[in-house]
Amino acid sequence: MSDIIKLLPDAVANQIAAGEVIQRPASAVKELLENAIDAGSDTISLVIKDAGKALIQVNDNGFGMSETDARLSFERHATSKIKSADDLFNINTKGFRGEALASIAAIAQVELKTKVEDNDLGTQIIIEGSEVKEQEVCNCSKGTSFSIKNLFFNVPARRNFLKSNPVEVKHIIEEFQRVAMVHAEIAFSMYNNGNEVFNLNKGSFRQRITGIFGDKINQKLVPVTENTDIVTVEGFVSKPEFAKKTRGEQYFFVNDRFIKNAYLNHAVQNAFDQLLSKDQFPSYFLKLTIDPSKIDINIHPTKTEIKFEDERAIYAIIRTAVKQALGKFNISPTLDFEQESSFNVPLLKSTDSIKTPSIKVNKDYNPFETKTVAPEVKKQSTENWESLYSSFEKDSAEIIEHQEKKGEQQVISPQWDEEEEVKQTLLQLHSKYILTQLKSGSLIIDQQRAHERILFEDFSKNLEQGKGNTQQLLFPETIDFTTADAELLNELNTEIKNLGFDIDKMGKSSFVVSGVPTELNEQNVKKILEGLLEQFKLNESELKLKKHENLAISMARSASIKSGKNLSYEEMKALVDQLFACEMPYSLPNGKPTIITLNLEDLNQQFDY
Ligand code: ADP
Ligand code: MG
Repeated sequence: MSDIIKLLPDAVANQIAAGEVIQRPASAVKELLENAIDAGSDTISLVIKDAGKALIQVNDNGFGMSETDARLSFERHATSKIKSADDLFNINTKGFRGEALASIAAIAQVELKTKVEDNDLGTQIIIEGSEVKEQEVCNCSKGTSFSIKNLFFNVPARRNFLKSNPVEVKHIIEEFQRVAMVHAEIAFSMYNNGNEVFNLNKGSFRQRITGIFGDKINQKLVPVTENTDIVTVEGFVSKPEFAKKTRGEQYFFVNDRFIKNAYLNHAVQNAFDQLLSKDQFPSYFLKLTIDPSKIDINIHPTKTEIKFEDERAIYAIIRTAVKQALGKFNISPTLDFEQESSFNVPLLKSTDSIKTPSIKVNKDYNPFETKTVAPEVKKQSTENWESLYSSFEKDSAEIIEHQEKKGEQQVISPQWDEEEEVKQTLLQLHSKYILTQLKSGSLIIDQQRAHERILFEDFSKNLEQGKGNTQQLLFPETIDFTTADAELLNELNTEIKNLGFDIDKMGKSSFVVSGVPTELNEQNVKKILEGLLEQFKLNESELKLKKHENLAISMARSASIKSGKNLSYEEMKALVDQLFACEMPYSLPNGKPTIITLNLEDLNQQFDY
């Protein structure tokens, strides 16, 4: 047989790559805005027509490109932002992959005009489906202008896949806001079909937030600041009384990049503690500054997720910072030293009576105590939780409405109506997931992670209280361990007993187990103990967890129901029941999701209702 492998032509390779980088007009908007910021611009405008399907234009006054760079910018892996792999650990720009322009040019008709300060004339390039149609000099001002016309003109399947104009515009606005919000030092404007949507002057972070969400938000903001060696936190949270029933305005930025992080979100939510009920969500706008070598932004093509080296410490710092900010706010509710005079929100209306400040101080509170790192484990009422399936408040529908991207995880706080009872749908998929239905959509639960979360909370409590529940074995088992494992078992003897094991040493490296934690049911004791030790060692070397936390995590991992196990209806029901009785049902201690939601409206939309 003759050779059949061929290298793909660049245009085809770019088109394939484009699928990952440019999913919809909003993705192109994000890339172009970020490029404009990386170019040091201080004025950026965005013009869209027909929800970006006909035109996306971004104009900036940044440093522009030379003729050669202008041409090169459309090549794949062409970037001015990193030079070597080492630079990946010190990224100070938005872009670095050098694939956005190549991708966009593969699937659209692109016109670029750009000029550097020192030249009299600029360069104009027209490129369509990766093919350069025209390149000439042009008369333009310093900076760059990209016009993207007819996105996906040569990929009809993609174009047909786009949602209605209002939905696509919503996505574009969302991207615009995320980028503009954290760059208050740059003036941004946006026009949709000739109408001005935003016109944001340069100013402070507070001014930018009010520019985007309206002046009314100003009085709701409580400033947050914290400066540590690990991270600097700066920004605002909403006052508790303005908390929302939907998870709307929640923004984390890390080194000026918008990110999503369920774990850090929990830190903020947790800082509000008693101030909010379970169904209320604070708004927040928090900028974190971290040494770029301590984060990894290189894990997702659209880059809203990043990895932190020090996630737990950051959790604690954010929680503390927000708590302190709220504490200060309680002391002086009407005095806001950060108030900027350009807002016409009076500090005190003359008719307001001046309240005696009330001071709430938690004497036990010690910001340096690391106990706050791990979310505390509290059991909450499990009564009637299943009626959560019967009703989600209208608000919850809005909560998940934001969830458009497949696989995107959204944490929701279920609301239930005790009057209504509806039979619960539970369906196991691929021996791995449990599908269940809500009024406003569906939940998919990962069976193994769900069980791990449940066990983690149980075992943490047992360790904390120093006693787990033991089920005696009918026939005690003698187990031989490797010398190293036997050593470790000796060392962890007390804790292992506290987990609920009835275990005694019998000779050099043998142990006799007469009872096991009740959580284990009838599982293979030897396998569980070996799995526990294995996981414990791994966590110790990689995560440097505290002993208790490590043990609870390792034990939960080792003893959990695994993917691949078929579950009966009753087993699924018990699992889901217990999951929602957990303090933090939505994720594992490492932040990985246990549940994802599918919004009914999205489904309807996909079926074109
Ligand atoms: P990346 O941003 O990852 O480097 P892009 O494909 O987005 O990759 O852009 C490629 C290169 O084109 C950038 O590295 C930059 O040198 C140049 N470039 C893109 N947009 C602009 C702009 N608005 N102003 C100046 N240079 C730009
Ligand atoms: Mg870029």
